[in-house]
Amino acid sequence: MRLFSVKYRLLMWVTLILVCGFLATSLASYISSRDAIEHGIAEQTLPLTGDNIYSEIQKDILRPVFISSLMAHDTFVRDWMLGGEKNPQQIVRYLKELKKKYGTVSSFLVSDRSRAYYYAGGRLKSVHPDASRDAWFFRLRALTTADYETNVDVDLANRDSMTIFINHRVLDYQGNFIGATGVGLTLDTMSRIIDRYQARFHRNIYFVDGAGAIVLAGKSMQGVRGAIATLPGVRAIAAQILNRDSVPTHLAYQGETASMLLNSRYIPELGWYLVVEQNVSAEVKPVQRVFALNLAISFAVTLAVLVLTLLTVNRFQRRIERAASTDALTGLLNRRALELVFRNSILVSKRSGRPLAAILFDIDFFKHVNDNHGHLWGDTVIRAVADLARRTVRESDVVTRWGGEEYLILLNDCGLEQAAQIAEALRRAVAACDFGMPAPNLRVTVSLGVAEYAEDEGESAFFSRADSALYQAKHGGRNRLQLSAPAAFAPAA
Ligand code: GH3
Ligand code: MG
Ligand code: MG
Repeated sequence: MRLFSVKYRLLMWVTLILVCGFLATSLASYISSRDAIEHGIAEQTLPLTGDNIYSEIQKDILRPVFISSLMAHDTFVRDWMLGGEKNPQQIVRYLKELKKKYGTVSSFLVSDRSRAYYYAGGRLKSVHPDASRDAWFFRLRALTTADYETNVDVDLANRDSMTIFINHRVLDYQGNFIGATGVGLTLDTMSRIIDRYQARFHRNIYFVDGAGAIVLAGKSMQGVRGAIATLPGVRAIAAQILNRDSVPTHLAYQGETASMLLNSRYIPELGWYLVVEQNVSAEVKPVQRVFALNLAISFAVTLAVLVLTLLTVNRFQRRIERAASTDALTGLLNRRALELVFRNSILVSKRSGRPLAAILFDIDFFKHVNDNHGHLWGDTVIRAVADLARRTVRESDVVTRWGGEEYLILLNDCGLEQAAQIAEALRRAVAACDFGMPAPNLRVTVSLGVAEYAEDEGESAFFSRADSALYQAKHGGRNRLQLSAPAAFAPAA
């Protein structure tokens, strides 16, 4: 029982050590790989994407900003407006020439005095404070913090396509607002840039205006419009996205199905925020697969080690048990094993009510064998007597070496009479045996004490009776057997 628990404790420790070791190394490598990926995305991939997009759109945006500024400061434009907007053909020609020269999609001028909207094709309309489409003009009119603003709108003069307008304030020579001028460029260029990046790197790219509304997004975000404060996940970090730090802001949020890393940067030319976000879960998936594979391999190795350990321990356990219970010289059960067998046989006999007998026997004058022929011959005789005993008794009987040249045979399901017959057969067999010793006339005989187990008798009492019988056989002249009946000692027959 104790050996059993020691074995399973050993297996438990081996498992624990292997599992802990494998888990620790797999987890450590998984975490470090995942962190490296996340760090790479947050610190390099996303900012670089932002930088690239920014530098590409800068080329597209800075030019119109520059053209708008040129128009707003043009003395012809200002003089024409201050002069009462006479001869509109002049300003229309101006806008047409400008559009042609710089290749913009539209060019316009709105007078604050007449509220007239001119474009390269003539006078388009009047702006009204109530018209939502004209809100940009009145916003620009009230603008005090900057000279221009960008505005994404539908261009009436350009088949209603989505256009970014650079709206520049026009001031008179005293600095008073007299109107707005500027150019428009279609969003196609920027959309194309965004789509190219999205297709190549599987990133969501979109622009958010100062109020937190998505103004421009790539194909992957089609249908996602409106305020970022209403988007699931993004909602929590909406305020941090709108951050005018010159350094890009790194953010993270938990989306509906994946965790996302996000980078936001302010683009002053547009007054917008460029947001680039990447699905980290998708990037980490291969690492998770490796982690799972590692765990599977670890599991298999642990299992193999356990099975091997169990097999080895069992083999050694069996070997040790055999060595502990067997007598090396004769191969018989030894005294330690006998105690267990003895106790067990008594229990079985008690339970079944079947008789049990024991033969305790000892080689006569064995000292002479040793003295005359040496201990090696002595050993040979001890072995030979053991073989004779084994051959003489029944299959169900247990022959043990009690010690020295004394043996004890347990005869299960055997009464005194039958035991006496077996003992007698053994006595004769030994006496008749030629041990092949060099000196002639040396007889080897045995004296035997035979006892039948008496009901409710203790182990030691039963053994003592067999021992006393043997003693009497010795004193009676040796080479004989003495019986001990269960009830009382029976005198030698
Ligand atoms: P008795 O008839 O009274 O039994 O006389 P005996 O000479 O056999 O006396 P006893 O049983 O006292 O002596 C046993 C001797 O057996 C003593 C010991 O040296 C020897 N002996 C015990 N074990 C071994 C063994 O494994 N090998 C050998 N060669 N001799 C042993
Ligand atoms: Mg002896
Ligand atoms: Mg002896």
